[in-house]
Amino acid sequence: MRAMRHDLHSHSWASDGLLSPAQVVRRAAARGVEVLALTDHDTTAGLGEAARAAEEAGVRLVPGVEISVTWHRRTIHIVGLGIDPECPALAAGLERLCERRRARARAIDARLARHGIEGAYEGARRRAAGAVIGRGHLARFLVEAGHVTGFDEAFKRYLGRGRVGFAPGEWVGLAEAVGWIRAAGGQAVIAHPARYRLTSAKLRELIREFRACGGEGIEVVSSAHSREEVNAMTGHARRFGLLASCGSDFHDPANRWADLGRMPALPAGCEPVWRGW
Ligand code: AMP
Ligand code: MN
Ligand code: MN
Ligand code: MN
Repeated sequence: MRAMRHDLHSHSWASDGLLSPAQVVRRAAARGVEVLALTDHDTTAGLGEAARAAEEAGVRLVPGVEISVTWHRRTIHIVGLGIDPECPALAAGLERLCERRRARARAIDARLARHGIEGAYEGARRRAAGAVIGRGHLARFLVEAGHVTGFDEAFKRYLGRGRVGFAPGEWVGLAEAVGWIRAAGGQAVIAHPARYRLTSAKLRELIREFRACGGEGIEVVSSAHSREEVNAMTGHARRFGLLASCGSDFHDPANRWADLGRMPALPAGCEPVWRGW
């Protein structure tokens, strides 16, 4: 499989990734990525370090973010590409989301405590080390404290939707998130659309609403997508006139299925989101 030139979805330890922003950039370069977007959850804190590393590594860095959205009581992720992290509307919005993340982590802590697991918030906060706190940090706590044997089990038993430690996030509305991205001069992209397990009708409703508020793109190629899902998302992109994006959603170098630059090329017939770059 040919390594792609573009990888437009990745995480560093500024959110729930395992590598520093500079390490993500250098790993991307070593794996043949020429255009990389760092898209940490609800923060732009890693972008400065990534930009400096990208200049040295000869990679083009696209400043990005992955915003947590609540849509019809579900969590949806919207990636912003080419954003100005200094934009006040975006910065203030992301700060609000980080506060909600801390509140949710405390709610998860309380639920886990009722099941005999103490110290989850503190454990996660320590592992986040000042970064934006997420379920990834809670999962690492559960693994390292011996409550589960692995990351996947942490989600299956405790942190996944509907499990005993699950507390629903209350994020921002779709129009608001797209508005921040546009105010910051970026392009909004629906992240890993097949992962939400929406019915086809519900996914079309999401796309229509997203288009109406100024959203431009959809991830067609993602490590979260099967080949069939790539084809289905290609169809949606074409039908709704959305630009197509591709990204590994890299978090962890030990997960070889979602490594940087590992994804196949966009299918023919897609209009790439980088068309006008
Ligand atoms: P959060 O945004 O804090 O709710 O956490 C979502 C993140 O948790 C995702 O971006 C993934 O990194 C990770 N995640 C979610 N579900 C799973 C799962 N079932 N197994 C492993 N990691 C997951
Ligand atoms: Mn994540
Ligand atoms: Mn996501
Ligand atoms: Mn992601």
